[in-house]
Amino acid sequence: MIALAERHQDEMRAHGERDYPFECCGLMLGRFADGHKQVIETYPISNAREEEAKRNRFLIRPEELMRGEKYAREKALDVVGFYHSHPDERAVPSQYDLDHAWPTYSYIVMSVEQGRAADLRSWEMESDRSRFNEEEIVKQD
Ligand SMILES: [Zn+2]
Repeated sequence: MIALAERHQDEMRAHGERDYPFECCGLMLGRFADGHKQVIETYPISNAREEEAKRNRFLIRPEELMRGEKYAREKALDVVGFYHSHPDERAVPSQYDLDHAWPTYSYIVMSVEQGRAADLRSWEMESDRSRFNEEEIVKQD
């Protein structure tokens, strides 16, 4: 379960629309508490892939991830997950996403249809890395 404020969803959707027709990606910073995650802040990151490969792939450069982790540490927060957009695709993780994911984190995937943010869903990888399971999103203030 992941707790998100309306404004976090708005920020991610706005990022997805801004970067359309390319994928956007970013971090979710917050806390792990009682078996769920609470998002305190979103941290937008640009997509590191080459222009032509930007659709339906996301990859965060190690130095960008480190910068995000450092920023989180300074604010006494953890990286609790990642978000990225699927331009004109469903909000369901791809095989590529599964191959490049880690357990424990939340993966928010949102579809951006014709430049407009649509579905936004959260996923968590099965501990044996075989698949993603959908995770409940709870609204918080
Ligand atoms: Zn994806």
